[in-house]
Amino acid sequence: MIFKTLSFMMMMAFAATTQAQTDSFSYNDERFADLQMLRYQVHGFDELSLRQKSLVYYLSEAALCGRDILWDQNGRYNLRIRQMLETVYTDYKGDRKSKDFQAFVVYLKRVWFSNGIHHHYGSEKFQPGFSETFLRQAVASVKDKLTFDTEALFPVIFDPAVMPKRTNQADGEDLVLTSAANYYGQGVTQAEAEDFYLKMKDADQDPAHPVMFGMNSRLVKEDGVIKEKVWRSGGLYGAAIDRIIYWLQKARTVAENDKQEAVIDKLIEYYRTGDLKTFDDYTILWVNDTQGDVDFTNGFTESYGDPLGMKASWEGLANFKDKAATARTEKLSANAQWFEDNSPVDARFKKENCKGITAKVIVAAMLGGDLYPSTAIGINLPNSNWVRAEHGSKSVTIGNLTDAYNKAAHGNGFQEEFVIDEDTRRLINLYGDACDDLHTDLHECLGHGSGKLLPGVDADSLKAYGSTIEEARADLFGLYYVADPKLTELGLTPNGEAYKSQYYTYMMNGLMTQLVRIEPNNNIEEAHMRNRALIAHWVLEHAIDNARRREQSQYRGHTDAEHTQTFFPVPQDQLQPAVQLIERDGKTYVQINNYAELRTLFGQLLAEVQRIKSTGDFEGARKLVETYGVKVDGKLHLEVLQRYKALNLAPYKGFINPVYVVERDKEGQIADIRVTYDEPYDQQMLRYSRDYRTLPLVND
Ligand SMILES: [Zn+2]
Repeated sequence: MIFKTLSFMMMMAFAATTQAQTDSFSYNDERFADLQMLRYQVHGFDELSLRQKSLVYYLSEAALCGRDILWDQNGRYNLRIRQMLETVYTDYKGDRKSKDFQAFVVYLKRVWFSNGIHHHYGSEKFQPGFSETFLRQAVASVKDKLTFDTEALFPVIFDPAVMPKRTNQADGEDLVLTSAANYYGQGVTQAEAEDFYLKMKDADQDPAHPVMFGMNSRLVKEDGVIKEKVWRSGGLYGAAIDRIIYWLQKARTVAENDKQEAVIDKLIEYYRTGDLKTFDDYTILWVNDTQGDVDFTNGFTESYGDPLGMKASWEGLANFKDKAATARTEKLSANAQWFEDNSPVDARFKKENCKGITAKVIVAAMLGGDLYPSTAIGINLPNSNWVRAEHGSKSVTIGNLTDAYNKAAHGNGFQEEFVIDEDTRRLINLYGDACDDLHTDLHECLGHGSGKLLPGVDADSLKAYGSTIEEARADLFGLYYVADPKLTELGLTPNGEAYKSQYYTYMMNGLMTQLVRIEPNNNIEEAHMRNRALIAHWVLEHAIDNARRREQSQYRGHTDAEHTQTFFPVPQDQLQPAVQLIERDGKTYVQINNYAELRTLFGQLLAEVQRIKSTGDFEGARKLVETYGVKVDGKLHLEVLQRYKALNLAPYKGFINPVYVVERDKEGQIADIRVTYDEPYDQQMLRYSRDYRTLPLVND
């Protein structure tokens, strides 16, 4: 499973943070259609040993060699179409400034991005913004460069009725016949495919440890017989797989330890045989290989592209441990008991023996296959349920990609539109990214692991409200502690005001800006969003209550004999609520007047949420969630949607890969490897099509 959370990332990037672009690295690259191209920095690569650099380099090459597999998996004409379009792109001698050619360029860039002619996210076929006549003329003009018949490709590109969806999920249709994805041969029906695999599962000798049936093959019908064409060396996609094996063999010579070498060997064995039991053995070795710094995924992994959810698209990722982030979470974990003991919750609900979790953060070094250019920000593998249950899983977040999303959002106008004033923007610029990471660390490493249920309380007693309450608990733990002097003492926050950036963006997100992800007239459904709304609205309401109480307290005391009230004035600034929504020039803003009081409120709500959890108070959970976490203020919602739309931000993002430059000594041995970041998007795509063309144009 991967966390390919596009819209979530958009929010993280736009709402949660931002920091001044202090380095000269350019995170944003070109924009076209609904896409924004970004770049990521491979932090820490220069600090790796030469052996580790070589390992990362070989695994990066292996990650790039499966590109053609994915293109062919995404549709049987994709490789031919790519070749035809790229030839026009490089050799067309006509007017390159014409409207048709410009539209053609956008189309090609979208096809590159999607690894095929269907949208990477929505899976619908792209509508070209140029005419068929134009493309036919352009193709004719470069005909001597093309070695195959292109006629069949035009209806595939232009006829809306041909292959309209890559992965059709519409209930009631034959999902296999109506999906353009190339996981099933021509003429194979959904019923035939389902029947084929049902029989295979029924015949399984070891049903407690089932392999991932059908994961690494195309199901075809030949002479009326249904059978699998397995993706392996010597089989379908064998030419690409042999190139992957070539680089894996180089990688094993510089493995960090014996365990890692055994992992790579097992993967090679699996690629050679296509045997799915060997694949399970490989994933078990991979899960247990945690000693080294360098790691990878390489292979047929995720099945989102198969309408039946069995066949896995090819992906590759080379990565290594993010040492700085890991040091941060280790510090928190080492102090887990201190945080537990000092939290504002009732002593009865505290753990006596609290162990933190060290979050694993990695640095992506190369993205390939289904992780490129649109990518995941986290990985949780393997996917086999029994392997997970018996051997565990690796769950990692990809720190440098999250960082790139955040940095790229700087200067996109979001803050200028939604943050109340220059002073607050300055705080967010200075500390936003760091405190956002820290809040996530506190949430993951300490928050979820804190607290305990009272004896006899059923862990499921909060039922449908359980996950919202649990997320609120972890978030509140983070919010309460991000402001604690302990963090400055541990060297995790630079000073006593940094946390204010997190308080502001959290409240702004919970009260307003997360609403950009909700359609008009809808309620909030998703647990994380409900939790943020719950916290922000509860705190807002209680801040206003507190201010009202202070206001009334001015008239407290006694009424004297003449029945006149005595007035005890409270300083003007204390009459304001700690947080409020204000309107200026027809626009709503969050205004925070008292950060310290905000922290007290977060602490009070944490105590209440922990009480609900620890005692299994279903009614309390229901009330809290339904009152504060679900409903949307329709008028404010529309306002936020309009303001967001006016910013004209690209809804989807993807990454251009870095380039590794290998320097060799006189003997031809690797002397050093440098990473560079200046290859343009189109040049990278053309280079990949040239240097990593591992498959024939037709793979039947
Ligand atoms: Zn959580």
